[in-house]
Amino acid sequence: MPSPPRTGDTVTARSNTHSDTLVQPGRCRTHGVVQATKQVPRIRFPFVVYGALRLWAQWCPFRCPTCGGPVGRA
Ligand SMILES: [Zn+2]
Repeated sequence: MPSPPRTGDTVTARSNTHSDTLVQPGRCRTHGVVQATKQVPRIRFPFVVYGALRLWAQWCPFRCPTCGGPVGRA
């Protein structure tokens, strides 16, 4: 049962054929609260490879759009 997105949830901001850009509010050490972004590769053939890459990307931290540094939860 899907629930509607709440404020502060991760959203998919834009997509292209190769990856999705996820956006989530976060806190950069230098810039304070920012809309942190992360690229997650889209699943495509070979599915095993891209499934693994996508899982790995979901483990990686979100990045500050200004300095590229890792961003914690807001
Ligand atoms: Zn920053």
